[in-house]
Order: sequence, then C-alpha cells, then structure tokens
Amino acid sequence: MPIDATLPYDDTNIFARILKGEIPCRKVYEDEYALAFHDIAPQAPVHILVIPRGAYVSWDDFSARAEPAEIAGFVRAVGKVARDQGLVGDGYRLLANVGPAAGQEVAHLHVHIFGGRPLGPMLA
Ligand code: C5P
Repeated sequence: MPIDATLPYDDTNIFARILKGEIPCRKVYEDEYALAFHDIAPQAPVHILVIPRGAYVSWDDFSARAEPAEIAGFVRAVGKVARDQGLVGDGYRLLANVGPAAGQEVAHLHVHIFGGRPLGPMLA
C-alpha cells in the first residue's frame, strides 16, 4: 500500500529492519552511507535497490535533511553499483518513487536501478 512521504520516519519499516540485520537481503554493496541489494520482485534482469543508512522517508526527506557528505556518499554508491553491475555501456534507469501518487510502498528512501534489457520509454 502506498505510503504518505510526509509522515515522520518509522524505524519499523522493512528496509530499516534490513539495515539492522533483522531481515535478510541479497546484498550487492555496502559502505558507510548506503546498502544495495537485489529487489525481491525484479522487474528487469538487473533490479537493485540502493538505500541510505540514515533514517529518511523519501527522496524529498533526504534532499531536505541529509548532510552533504551523506548525499555525496549515497549518490556515489548508486553510481558505483551500476558500474559494478556492468550497466554503463548499455545504459540503465534510476527511479525513486515519492509518496502515494508515485506508489511508494516502503517508507525508507530507495533508489531503483533497472538494467540488463532495453527499458523502453519512461512511464507518464
Ligand atoms: O518504489 P516502491 O516503494 O514501490 O518500491 C518498493 C520495492 O521494494 C518493490 O520493488 C519491492 O519489490 C521491493 N521490496 C523488496 N524487499 C522487500 C519488500 C519490498 O525488495 N522485503
């Protein structure tokens, strides 16, 4: 069910629990700013989620509140994961759903990385 991205952060969300090690994930990368893992229901041959370690509900929350080092670290992690997956040559897509209109389902910022096939036009 889509979440309201303006609500305060709730640390019982499923990605918070993955960060705490309470729930397993198929990890592909981690550093002090980010954790990346395979999406549980992939929509492309490569479908990875990258999440910040900090407690941010959405891209809106993150872009407003995160420290510059967190933002830089997170952005660099997204780029590194895509490079490490060999996606740069053929190209890839980044997506962050924010709030109900976009269908955001987990109330912890996550950037989707899609790749491994032609992705077609963007959705409206
Ligand atoms: O952007 P949105 O919030 O809709 O995406 C949530 C994503 O989290 C979905 O692609 C879903 O498959 C994924 N997910 C996951 N592992 C979970 C729960 C959700 O990879 N345990």
